[in-house]
Amino acid sequence: MLRLLKSVRPLDRYTHSFMAFVLPITFNTAEADIIIMDANDSSDLESLVRRINRHAHIIALSSTENVRSISSILAPKDDVWHDKMSREEIIFRFQKMLKLISEENEHRINEYYLEAAINSVPDLVWFKDKDGAHTRVNNSFCKAVGKSHEQINGRGHYYIWDIEPEEYAKGEFICMESEYEVMEKKKTCVFDEKVLIANDMRELKTYKSPLFDFDGSVMGTVGIARDVTIENQYRHKMINNANRDFLTGLYNRRYIYNYIEQLKGTPYTLFYIDLDHFKKVNDMYGHAEGDRALVTTKTILEETMRDSCIARVGGDEFMIVLSGEMTKFDIDKLANELQDNLKTAYAADSVFTVLSASIGTYYVAANSSIPLDNIIMEADERMYKQKKIAHGHESSRDVSTKDTVTGLPRYEEFITELTNKIEYIDNQRVAVIYGDIKHFKYINDTYGYHKGNELLSDISRNFQEFEGNYISATRLYSDNFVIALLVSEDVSNEEFRNMVSRWGMKTEQELGLSYATKKLRFVAGITIVDKENHMDAETAVSNANIARKEAKRKKEDCIVLFNDHMLDDLKWEIEISASLPDAIRDRKLEAFYQPKIDSKTLSVIGGEALVRWKRDDGTYLAPDNFIPILEKTGQIVDVDYYIYREVFSFIDKRLKEGKKVVPISMNVSRIHLLNDEMIKYVESLFTEFPIPREYIEFELTESIYIRNSEEAIRLVNNLHNLGIRVSMDDFGTGYSSLNLLGTLPIDTIKLDRAFLQRDNFSKNDKIILSNVINMSKQLQMKSLCEGVENETQIEYLKEAGCDEQQGYYFSKPIPKDKFEEFLSNNK
Ligand code: C2E
Ligand code: CA
Ligand code: CA
Repeated sequence: MLRLLKSVRPLDRYTHSFMAFVLPITFNTAEADIIIMDANDSSDLESLVRRINRHAHIIALSSTENVRSISSILAPKDDVWHDKMSREEIIFRFQKMLKLISEENEHRINEYYLEAAINSVPDLVWFKDKDGAHTRVNNSFCKAVGKSHEQINGRGHYYIWDIEPEEYAKGEFICMESEYEVMEKKKTCVFDEKVLIANDMRELKTYKSPLFDFDGSVMGTVGIARDVTIENQYRHKMINNANRDFLTGLYNRRYIYNYIEQLKGTPYTLFYIDLDHFKKVNDMYGHAEGDRALVTTKTILEETMRDSCIARVGGDEFMIVLSGEMTKFDIDKLANELQDNLKTAYAADSVFTVLSASIGTYYVAANSSIPLDNIIMEADERMYKQKKIAHGHESSRDVSTKDTVTGLPRYEEFITELTNKIEYIDNQRVAVIYGDIKHFKYINDTYGYHKGNELLSDISRNFQEFEGNYISATRLYSDNFVIALLVSEDVSNEEFRNMVSRWGMKTEQELGLSYATKKLRFVAGITIVDKENHMDAETAVSNANIARKEAKRKKEDCIVLFNDHMLDDLKWEIEISASLPDAIRDRKLEAFYQPKIDSKTLSVIGGEALVRWKRDDGTYLAPDNFIPILEKTGQIVDVDYYIYREVFSFIDKRLKEGKKVVPISMNVSRIHLLNDEMIKYVESLFTEFPIPREYIEFELTESIYIRNSEEAIRLVNNLHNLGIRVSMDDFGTGYSSLNLLGTLPIDTIKLDRAFLQRDNFSKNDKIILSNVINMSKQLQMKSLCEGVENETQIEYLKEAGCDEQQGYYFSKPIPKDKFEEFLSNNK
């Protein structure tokens, strides 16, 4: 028998040897995996079996009659061999036992690995069955709940966390329904949870995943929780510090600007406060006293201006924002009160008696479209004006009727005059010009407000040059003027525009000489009111302003006549912007896909996601009709996120169905450069859809790199850190950035279709194209050419070594289901 067993080959990675002995047992049975014993004397067998270490498998040799009684003593893993067994049967059963032992070992090792892994981390790890009973937890978990493994195993949530069900019902420190959520969604979810651990409220970041049975049904969950309490505390502290002025503890400029940005559309009042003679305190008594003056000021501001956002925005400058509607009367009253309180405080301190404060206020009505910079500048200017009044340079009586800076009439007066003119218009025409000075801020910043104001009054004096035609003019705020002129009968609208344009250039020249800058530019929109279009004065001003916005976009000759199309554009813009939220909610946006083709094999190797907007009539709106608008309003971010999510879920679904998947690239709007939100969003998508990173790519346009290279590179690096490839889109449009290429960390360059679409694709175009492709090769970047529309182009690109192609020849951007067809038809 021994010889027979010795002839059996051990399993892979195992060896075995045999030892023989007679009773009593003289060696440690724990060292044996199999114990073969003669069991014919079964009276002894029971006690013998009990003495043997039960990790070993027993093979009991028995006579045929005894098999039954012997097997009743043994365990299922043991075996009974009887004397009628053939050699083949013995070998077969012995091999089976060896296999069983190796599987047991495998299982033990896996157990051990899992145990070691979950116990090596400080995070809490637990497994639960689908009724919520804990089936396994790690040591950190035991420690957190103050219970042993034995106490925890098989027990539910309330017991383990010492929570009374009533307490749970009241909604305290729960993290249970999240489990149901995970089992329902059948995928990993992330939760931020608060839990009471050893009487200490801790913040946990918890990842929970479903566990699937062999048949795919959910049989429980696994959870991993990290204690992020300290981390969060630091983060809050850091954010807080970044928002605060170190000396006074007030908010800083950055914070209050953001704050105001968030109030956009709602009414609020801005107070701009500047200390007079602060420098004197510093010079005469030293910086410590200066600091004390600022802190004293802060105290008064906080006491007087309750429920407001207060910031120190410069050495001795403060800004306060009060949100909500306010009458002019209330604003003045509050400003006076603040002024009085400051005066009293300064007078009470022997060092501060020289100090006083100037306050400028500005009320922003609901839905105001005045840009923040202009609001702040105006509040600042009013503050400055007050300073002058206080110092007796100007009589305060002037303030109400005329603009103190330019001497021009106030807006109300201007409108009254314009209305009168328009009413008696007859055969004449009245032009309303809404203008401003591009880069006016530059004068303020470099030369100070004195100079800025001088410039404004110089300009308004120049208006008088329209002698004979001049009706009236006013300054709305900052550098925004409106001028009303009569248009002579023999002058056409376009001729009139030219005249204003000439006047603008002359003014720019003069200003350029006196302020040593070529930056200043007169930008204006013009409305011409005649008998036919009978516009009222306010509409005329508003339309001129619309034309001015158009003018702002132009590089040269920034004087633009208003036409009705501009209103159409504006209406369209408003419609698009207003209907986007509904479109997103109703899933009216769709990702279309355009295939990318390998030049060599002509098979599909990727796709680009391009957004489409499904209109109520079933047609699709192309992105050019809405993306530029949504970029202006910032809503493009919502569109992008929508598309990104569509793409992730598309890939995830196909992977789950075991279908062919290719990498999909998505477009990145420049708005994403402003902060790291996009990165966070993409990360969250990977959590929601755990797909391999190589299936996701992003495209940034060349112009993004050129205009904001620093931010662009940071974004690319962040994407790379996530394992995502990035391409440069529209390469070769306008600004060609050949020398920039070398410094950019991108993976692919996408040659713009303009390369192929120049008239009949000349020799020179080919030279440029093949050189760009070569260069990209040397820089280890892939190249893709867009806009491929015919076979000549395909062949040429192939010869030039371009790796990939995309264009109508292969396919237009197509809906998801069509793209799926494309994928399955293409090898
Ligand atoms: P793009 O990124 O340069 O996309 C390529 C555009 O070229 C697409 O226009 C595509 O339809 C068009 N095209 C492709 N092959 C050919 C061809 O052979 N001939 C011609 N004539 N055109 C071709 P589409 O879909 O109208 O998109 C226009 C632009 O809108 C895109 O230019 C992209 O900048 C932007 N865009 C599209 N979807 C999104 C999005 O989800 N987010 C953002 N931020 N921008 C998007
Ligand atoms: Ca693109
Ligand atoms: Ca492109």
